[in-house]
Amino acid sequence: MIVNMKDGATEEQIEHVIERIREAGYQAHITRGVERTIVAAVGSNGRRHELEALQAAPGVDNVVAIAQPYKLVSRQVRPGGTVVKVGGVRIGNGEPVVVIAGPCSVESREQLLTTARAVKSAGARMLRGGAYKPRTSPYDFQGLGQEALDLLAEARRETGLPVVTEVMSTEDVDTICERADMLQVGARNMQNFALLRRLATIDKPVLLKRGPSATVKEWLLAAEYLLTGGNPNVVLCERGIKTFETEMRNTIDLAAVALAKELSHLPVIADPSHGTGRRSLIAPLSKAAIAVGADGLIIEVHPNPERALSDGPQSLDCREFQAMMRELPLQKCAVAVAWRGGAS
Ligand code: PEP
Ligand code: MN
Repeated sequence: MIVNMKDGATEEQIEHVIERIREAGYQAHITRGVERTIVAAVGSNGRRHELEALQAAPGVDNVVAIAQPYKLVSRQVRPGGTVVKVGGVRIGNGEPVVVIAGPCSVESREQLLTTARAVKSAGARMLRGGAYKPRTSPYDFQGLGQEALDLLAEARRETGLPVVTEVMSTEDVDTICERADMLQVGARNMQNFALLRRLATIDKPVLLKRGPSATVKEWLLAAEYLLTGGNPNVVLCERGIKTFETEMRNTIDLAAVALAKELSHLPVIADPSHGTGRRSLIAPLSKAAIAVGADGLIIEVHPNPERALSDGPQSLDCREFQAMMRELPLQKCAVAVAWRGGAS
């Protein structure tokens, strides 16, 4: 259930509602908007009628049941949408589309710095780079680990671009938090609940990739773990799912981008690199993702894709990235935002 407070409800009235929610056996989560405050009551063992009775409490506008299994993630909690801040970069809720770019894996100082400078000058707003790599084969390059984290921190110092990198294990969370601005949960770990619970306690934003075989509901429930555990700064990322198609590495599901935005207030970005596995499809699918309302893109770029230690076939070189950036409508086009506010 969510309790919508009236515009201008007092702190005392909000506190009273929180107290009553707790007394009824639920957890209370507060979302303070510019105009109004929403208090969500979550939990399964509370006394529902006591929540319904809050309708009559001072300062309360209305009490609404959230039908979906995910609660805090639901757009009903924050109809206007959420902006997640990563360093100085704002993602979501009608902000210009944020392009995150960089190599699949950090391979060397030169490779990373060359890429970081190139993507920055082309207009990327954040830098990506894998330090701990989830590889299908144990014989493939597994990432440079700590060394890569230091290089990412150096690239950020030089370019000013906030950095996102993947965390695969709860053991690495502290080390990565010290050096990165945002932590990525990779597709293979979307339902690693121990990792999600741990990331719920950090004060860094999380980029949550959709699992290759996850439904939209499972993806949103994974995000719910982060929010209910205390981390409201979550960006969802559609990166393609497994289908019967074999010509492409994955099938990027752009309907899921539009749907996730309809169902949730969280920002949603798209990853056409992993979503297709093909360099030639990155520019067209980036444009398509923006057209359906994506709040950002994450793109793999390598100075020499032919020599990349991971994901070369789906990496743009620096010039291809620059050329694509010139064509992208980063100020969202009208069609992308038309559905907001309930427009059909
Ligand atoms: C990546 O971003 O390099 C990566 C491994 O992504 P995913 O988890 O989507 O496969
Ligand atoms: Mn990759």
